[in-house]
Amino acid sequence: MQVVKQISEVRKIVKDWKRQGLTVGLVPTMGYLHEGHKSLIVRAVAENDRVVVSDFVNPTQFAPNEDYETYPRDIEADAKLCADAGASLIFNPEPEEMYDNALTSVNMTKITEVLCGKTRPTHFSGVCTVVSKLFNIVTPDRAYFGQKDAQQLCVIKKMVKDLNFDIEIVGCPIVRESDGLAKSSRNTYLNNAEREAALCLSRSLEKGKKLIEGGEESVEAVLDVIKTEINKEPLAKIDYAELVDLEDLSPLVKTKKPFLCAIAVYIGKTRLIDNFIME
Ligand code: AMP
Repeated sequence: MQVVKQISEVRKIVKDWKRQGLTVGLVPTMGYLHEGHKSLIVRAVAENDRVVVSDFVNPTQFAPNEDYETYPRDIEADAKLCADAGASLIFNPEPEEMYDNALTSVNMTKITEVLCGKTRPTHFSGVCTVVSKLFNIVTPDRAYFGQKDAQQLCVIKKMVKDLNFDIEIVGCPIVRESDGLAKSSRNTYLNNAEREAALCLSRSLEKGKKLIEGGEESVEAVLDVIKTEINKEPLAKIDYAELVDLEDLSPLVKTKKPFLCAIAVYIGKTRLIDNFIME
């Protein structure tokens, strides 16, 4: 497995694969890979002849006050995980390679302005721009995204439809720690007390889910239970807790499937997200 830093080299390798009639899967990541990322890579390896993992902390999806500089990085550990999972290539460009005086970006309205888009208004433009670029560089048959970032998955599916990318988008389930916390590269920011407090995310969602499974149809009642559970935790501060239509992310009054129930919570300074979907 090779680690490649140049766009031209990725293109050369992928063209060669395609000449041989091989299919290509892409797993876009920001690195510091864990079992959640690995599940995407393993799935991609099972469904494609060759798999490219992009490993790039994308500056354009961070606001100036966010954690771009401190975001954890470890390309050597990432390379080992990718090799173990059966990937063929890691694309690990420098920001200058990706954004050489670029003046173009990809913007989406509406579904990027709700949920995480409210507190992170420029985030999804950065995501759409970098993912479009990765799609054009790697030209994959399929690309793999985690349901952990449910809004991102929804945005990417919409972008692929709107811009006619000939790429199948595959959504993959959330991988959790044994105690329920959704795996995330940002979990490394948590100290011991915060790590314990972070369990209020998955715990609150479980309570909400149980309520719905028990027949509760009122979104307000479900969100009430979720917010109450999170608010019991002194280190937690809710950014949002919402239950929205899975397609257009519009708020619902009744728990009408398919829906996404998504939360973002600050644990100390660390902003964590989690969700569940009912289809
Ligand atoms: P990131 O490196 O955080 O940008 O994530 C790269 C990809 O991995 C995204 O599609 C995420 O949704 C996915 N991912 C991150 N954490 C998890 C997880 N715990 N379970 C499943 N997928 C994940």
